[in-house]
Amino acid sequence: MTDRKSRRRARQSADVVIWALSRIIGARFHCAPCIAIMTQIRTRIAPSPTGDPHVGTAYIALFNRCFAHSQGGKFILRIEDTDQSRSTAQSEQDILSSLRWLGIEWDEGPDCGGEYGPYRQSQRSDIYRQHIETLLANGSAFRCFCSSERLDALRRQQMQEKRQTGYDGHCLSLTQAEVDSRVGAGEESVVRMAVPREGDCRFNDLLRGEVAIAWSQIDMQILIKSDGLPTYHFANVVDDHLMGISHVIRGEEWINSTPKHLLLYEYFGWEAPRFCHMPLLRNPDKSKLSKRKNPTSINYYRSMGYLPQALVNYLGMMGWSMPDGAEKFTLTQMTRSFDISRVSLGGPIFDLAKLDWLNGKYLREDFAAEDFIAAYASWAFPPDKLAAIVPLIMQRVDKFSDVAELAKPLVSGELPLEAGAFEHKQLAPSEVQRVLQFSLWRLESLADWQRDSIEAALQGLAAAMELKIRDFLFPLFVAMSGKPVSLSVIEAIRILGLDITRARLRSALSAMGGVSKKQLKLLQQEFHGFSWP
Ligand code: GLU
Repeated sequence: MTDRKSRRRARQSADVVIWALSRIIGARFHCAPCIAIMTQIRTRIAPSPTGDPHVGTAYIALFNRCFAHSQGGKFILRIEDTDQSRSTAQSEQDILSSLRWLGIEWDEGPDCGGEYGPYRQSQRSDIYRQHIETLLANGSAFRCFCSSERLDALRRQQMQEKRQTGYDGHCLSLTQAEVDSRVGAGEESVVRMAVPREGDCRFNDLLRGEVAIAWSQIDMQILIKSDGLPTYHFANVVDDHLMGISHVIRGEEWINSTPKHLLLYEYFGWEAPRFCHMPLLRNPDKSKLSKRKNPTSINYYRSMGYLPQALVNYLGMMGWSMPDGAEKFTLTQMTRSFDISRVSLGGPIFDLAKLDWLNGKYLREDFAAEDFIAAYASWAFPPDKLAAIVPLIMQRVDKFSDVAELAKPLVSGELPLEAGAFEHKQLAPSEVQRVLQFSLWRLESLADWQRDSIEAALQGLAAAMELKIRDFLFPLFVAMSGKPVSLSVIEAIRILGLDITRARLRSALSAMGGVSKKQLKLLQQEFHGFSWP
């Protein structure tokens, strides 16, 4: 075992001993060190509800849950919706239901409550308002009145001089009287945190050992925006403290934010939690997992007919392994054997071929024929889907033996497609690509997934592209069903949902030779130039 590994294990064991002591003694002590010792293990996942439920969220949630539950602790779900312009109720609901589908349940959260609620940041504004007063009063935060013009000019100058960009501390020199009179006069301001300019911030990461980041690289972060709402950094620290979070286990993209967070703990005089930054999931080409190269929405895996237990098992293999090397394991087995020091920092590859292999193993080994039938039927033909499909099919068949062929696109994943299938008298291949790409972007931006809104969006797009609707729909028919004529393409899109639609439009684009980065940029410009009714 390397020195680093053994140090990690020692720290991990210390955490377990502390927890065990608190369980055995079971008493409450009131001096600070005793309170620290008695702290229960509490971890959390803190997703921002701004889009599809990401597999990365499930991966981090899984490790947080295993860490807490393997030590008798609690796992909390908190919704970080301080960015009101991007947060949606739909996204929050999707996050909750997809984690629940995976069986990654939480002990406290916005839906089930708990002692430390509310668990949605938009309902905690008063708490942040009170807490910022503490920092303003002790001088560790200050009001900043700088205009966006001044900040833009400062940034340009710093970039020209090849210096680190960031706030220059301009408003730190204002006297209290000046601040009061400008606030009194109604001038707009934000609250920033003071940050030392010299030295390093050092902290111990549970997996990485000591991390050092120079303070000069850390910006004087805005804590409260001009609309009075907190930024992620401020709300996150206040909530982690008030919710008694003992270990912050999150993706490595947050390492550079940790100095700001630690400084806030210090400014408040609070004990900081332990930090653990997990390696990011990667595409097979080692780039960061992104929806351009791999489906990232949990909904996609659900719609494709993967089993939740196989997906959770696969996520458990991302940088972690069972002590006996078993590749197939349940969430309970993983929790029982969990040891965070077994996480390896080399970026784990999220590989669909390996997931397929594991999912197939579950289907073959764990399902009797009757279980398979029941599970398949509830995936392929849930009552609401069946009710939507049957009327479409009934109009087009003469006999039952015609049904399977017609229904096939509605119960399949991606379809085998060739460029030849997209040949059309009126549309050049580049026009076909534009229709596919623009439709994808237009559908991704839809707030509700109803027949009428899908139809209106696509009709609007056809009009903006000055194409006849018949010609416009042709590439979509081929992408969605593999054929130029089929069931209503609008209905197919509605029934299949965004994730499968997205996957089919993408595979149609790649069957046509793909879109280069340069082309994509040009298409984006053109798309943003359209105006919608
Ligand atoms: N709201 C952040 C996110 O969306 C949470 C980051 C953290 O865990 O501190 O991932």
